[in-house]
Amino acid sequence: MSTPTQTSTITVALTGNPNTGKSTLFSDLVGVHQQVGNYPGVTVEKKTGRMEYGGRRYRVVDLPGIYSLAPRSPDEMVTVDVLLGHTPAVDPIDVVVCIADACNLKRNLYLVSQVLELGLPTVLALNMIDVADDEGIAIDVDRLASQLGIPVVATQANRGRGVDRLKEALSAVAPAAFETETPFPGPFEHEVVRLQSLLAERGIGTSRGQPISRFLVRRLLLDVNGYLQKTLLGDDAELLETLREARDRLAVAECGVPGVEIRVRYAWIGRVLDGVVQTPAEYRTTLTDRVDRVLTHRFWGLALFALVMVVVFQAVFSWAEPLMGAIDGAFQSLGAWIEATMAEGALRSLLVDGVVGGVGGVLVFLPQILILFLFIGVLEDCGYMARAAYLMDRAMVRVGLSGKSFIPLLASCACAVPGIMAARVIENERDRLTTILVAPLMTCSARLPVYALLIAAFIPARTYFGVFGLQGLTLIALYAVGMLAAVTAALVLKRTLLRGQAPPFVMELPRYKWPSPRIVVMRVFERASVFLRTAGTIILAVSILVWAALYYPRDTQSVEALPEIQRLRAELASLPADDPRYEQAEAELDRELSGAYQRQSFLGRAGRWVEPVFRPLGWDWRISCAVIASFPAREVVVATLGVIFDLGEGVDAESEEGASRFRATLERATWGETDRKLFNVPVALSLMVFFALCAQCAATLAVIRRETNSWRWPAFTFAYMTTLAYLAALATYQTGMWIRG
Ligand code: GDP
Ligand code: MG
Repeated sequence: MSTPTQTSTITVALTGNPNTGKSTLFSDLVGVHQQVGNYPGVTVEKKTGRMEYGGRRYRVVDLPGIYSLAPRSPDEMVTVDVLLGHTPAVDPIDVVVCIADACNLKRNLYLVSQVLELGLPTVLALNMIDVADDEGIAIDVDRLASQLGIPVVATQANRGRGVDRLKEALSAVAPAAFETETPFPGPFEHEVVRLQSLLAERGIGTSRGQPISRFLVRRLLLDVNGYLQKTLLGDDAELLETLREARDRLAVAECGVPGVEIRVRYAWIGRVLDGVVQTPAEYRTTLTDRVDRVLTHRFWGLALFALVMVVVFQAVFSWAEPLMGAIDGAFQSLGAWIEATMAEGALRSLLVDGVVGGVGGVLVFLPQILILFLFIGVLEDCGYMARAAYLMDRAMVRVGLSGKSFIPLLASCACAVPGIMAARVIENERDRLTTILVAPLMTCSARLPVYALLIAAFIPARTYFGVFGLQGLTLIALYAVGMLAAVTAALVLKRTLLRGQAPPFVMELPRYKWPSPRIVVMRVFERASVFLRTAGTIILAVSILVWAALYYPRDTQSVEALPEIQRLRAELASLPADDPRYEQAEAELDRELSGAYQRQSFLGRAGRWVEPVFRPLGWDWRISCAVIASFPAREVVVATLGVIFDLGEGVDAESEEGASRFRATLERATWGETDRKLFNVPVALSLMVFFALCAQCAATLAVIRRETNSWRWPAFTFAYMTTLAYLAALATYQTGMWIRG
């Protein structure tokens, strides 16, 4: 059945516990020849790459990290499916490379023991061998290989050491028949055989024409209330009963599930590791231990964590400034160039105000986002992020979640979409749902442009004690608002809709190490490209739509017929062109014209229609317009504000040094015809608080729908966040105005 190309390309799967270096080793093996996609039907990332060695071609698949082949979450199911060859998206696996952390061999071999039962040729990569050396752990690799019965190669993936030997071992085993004996006792295997023939008769678990594998039957027996039971048996009462009876018989034979698996496998690990590992006679306090005594300290740890965050956010502001200026300048010149070369009209307006203005207004914030991701990347790679999660666990338990929710929520600080996907690692359904529902409240990078613009324009650049800038502090406060809201929402949800017990926290702290520049750069690049792709597609599309909603219907006749316009035109006509008042009158006419066009535009009408609703928040119809337009994607508001406040004014403002023309425009805006400034600190704050809490992101809602498989939860998220945002913005503005007197 297999075609010649299939036989000539050997498919290799990389599997192992999380954080053992799979992805690093994957990059070592395939270099730049990699593709990233998704497994069909689920949002688990699929990474494959090409490799050539010894004249043969290989396809390498990097699988999600797992601790056990007992599939409990979609991630684990993907790994199991791929290993069993059940995923049409990946060719059947010919060879497995198991990656184990050399410092934690005992625990890592648990998965190896399960993988071996798949009956596929397997190679063990003993990674992090450098760390084991440092800790004085000596491993007899040859002895391990002979006791395991498979090739074992010591590697240091982050330096590419041992990779050639791994390739050689791979090519030597691939693809050959492979036999392993099961470590399970006789009575257990007896039940397995019995169940296997029963299921084979019913055609359950058949794949590629083959009856259900013995491996799967074992898993079915072992995994009480597991994923498999549901997917394989459904609600077939008779089969479920048969399964229950089999388990009862096993319990009587002292092979009760799931205890038997742990017992049997650790006994096997004990035999395999016999005489293999030499640990130093007395426990050496490592540098990591000593550092952790401070960094995970109840008080000092948290204080340092807070300090780290302050430094990060200060840097996001001050370092990005020159780059932002450069990008802003480039887009302004581009806009000016188009304005100078094209004739006035709808197309020019579309290009300048819609495309260049819209996309440029968002791209300006790329430097800040890059710097933020750079910090997150470094903190992640040096091992600090796990400590942050550990530090936060106590707090997370208090809101009814576990430390496991911290990583998804932290990832949501970059973008709620990957954050919500990361919630898959949470086994507890209620915890997972709670995490998903509150994740959009965390301050994602799309909020940064809005904050950056408003803070720079309206929060004075004051400094306290020489280090703490008021602008940076405001940003931190906004992050805190999001976090606080998320915590409160989680608390309320766990007390009401999603009541349940919090599971215990299990998480290991990786060793500290110098962050690898290659890995940090790669992660920054990955995240930045997601941001850019959004900017290039959704934001561009929305910018154009918003521009159109503001440009059309463009009823010139009725605008020109307005008495005010006619008066200004007459006044202008009466002045000679060299009169000093001429320019002033012309500018006034321009401003009046653009205002009139905005008011009669589609968006202007909508904005004015809802203005009464938003007035108590201190917003006029233009701000309301911008907010409405940003419901599909919140970062669009920057572009929309730009279009609304800039349209028609042209490039008149000689932009002050450093401050962008745009900020200056906002600062100049007044309430309608009056002289009263539209923006002040309370308005800016109420707007920012609204953006902190509102569910203005179509992508997030779509992902929630996908992850919860129902429209109920995205609808719920949208409703509760919008209400919360409105009330909080109202309170902010009213309090602010009251303080101002
Ligand atoms: P995965 O979760 O298994 O895909 O692990 P990654 O490939 O993302 O690696 C986790 C971390 O371990 C990264 O920071 C790597 O730089 C680091 N790492 C990978 N291999 C080694 C190694 O052999 N020695 C050391 N010291 N670090 C490693
Ligand atoms: Mg990985």
